[in-house]
Amino acid sequence: MIASAKVNLFNFDRHGLEAFFAEQGEKAYRATQMVKWIHQLGVIDLDKMTNLSRSLRAQLIETTEFSLPKVKYRQHSKDGTRKWILELFDGNAIETVFIPENDRGTLCVSSQVGCILNCSFCSTGRQGFNRNLTTAEIISQLWIAKDELAREAGNQKRHVSNVVFMGMGEPLLNVDQVVPAMELMMDDFGYGLSKRRVTLSTSGLVPAMKELKATSDVALAVSLHAPNDPLRDILVPINKKYPLAELMAVCRDYYPKSSKRKITFEYVMLDGVNDQPKHARQLCKILEGVPGKMNLIPFNPFPHSGYGRSPIGAITAFRDILQKAGIVTTIRKTRGDDIDAACGQLVGDVNDRTQRKARLATRLKRIAVKTEELDIDEAR
Ligand code: SAH
Ligand code: SF4
Repeated sequence: MIASAKVNLFNFDRHGLEAFFAEQGEKAYRATQMVKWIHQLGVIDLDKMTNLSRSLRAQLIETTEFSLPKVKYRQHSKDGTRKWILELFDGNAIETVFIPENDRGTLCVSSQVGCILNCSFCSTGRQGFNRNLTTAEIISQLWIAKDELAREAGNQKRHVSNVVFMGMGEPLLNVDQVVPAMELMMDDFGYGLSKRRVTLSTSGLVPAMKELKATSDVALAVSLHAPNDPLRDILVPINKKYPLAELMAVCRDYYPKSSKRKITFEYVMLDGVNDQPKHARQLCKILEGVPGKMNLIPFNPFPHSGYGRSPIGAITAFRDILQKAGIVTTIRKTRGDDIDAACGQLVGDVNDRTQRKARLATRLKRIAVKTEELDIDEAR
């Protein structure tokens, strides 16, 4: 399918719209009006935008459009979690998940179709990389969720109070498109979410993290998953390029000391792989002096993953070690299990790469030996 020649107004944050309207000879306040219509009020019918002049509306009808992905499927979990599978103009599909809790409603959005970084426990990674999402495709996920949730009646009524970039893809490999979408989320004339309620999760792309720090105020989550380089090299291969020492150095200074803000560290609990007390002790060491809190994620299995979820006893024991060292640690509740709506389970058939499982098992055995060596060093 060919993309339309018209300009999709979902592609711009307020600054982008200001530039767009300037080209049309219009004043900057038109951008504010348009952001309000589209994102605050959810209106995408130019006829209803009564504070725009008739002539401007006529001109916009000719040259612009409000193009949204199609909702291909909706799934509702018993626990209230919802999942949307959205079809993009080129036939690709992405997923968005809404997780209601007592005090909040969190929308988990995707930033890419697939992911190039190939973390060994992640189903998105195993699909390989297809393409970056546009700003329009990213913000559409929130627009559609808000629109659909607003239509629900009675006490079922929910709204999005938080957004996390924890769906498909690595947002820091698509910064140009992700940042304007985040701006719309935080814009008082848009979705009006506070900077603490929009969280970007990264696998640890150090230079891009530094750039983000300089350009955006969103909350940061870092996918750690291992307390030492040999193990992280396998679980999160980008670690070979940006090893833990570099990653922790940027995390240590990410927020100004005075701000009291903390990075959320994500740590997927893989049975027998990274969930032992010695791993918890190593983690305490590398997190010393880093303002952060820890979120332990029970692994969400998918076919041919080669991993299992840690037993709850191992997870709580792990948490207790971190807590004792003064690290605030939470265990993520598994949600939407009946609709495969959890992290790392998003979209599509898993394309098990050749003999991956067997290769992985051999590599993990080798790592087990290496980390034992580290423990010995530590004990000395
Ligand atoms: N690429 C980014 C954001 C998307 S992944 C990142 O890696 O941080 C969002 C989170 O889901 C990450 O912490 C990721 O490690 C985790 N995740 C991926 N696969 C998972 C799985 N099968 N079970 C549990 N968490 C998983
Ligand atoms: Fe990509 Fe994140 Fe999955 Fe790693 S965990 S493959 S970075 S989406």
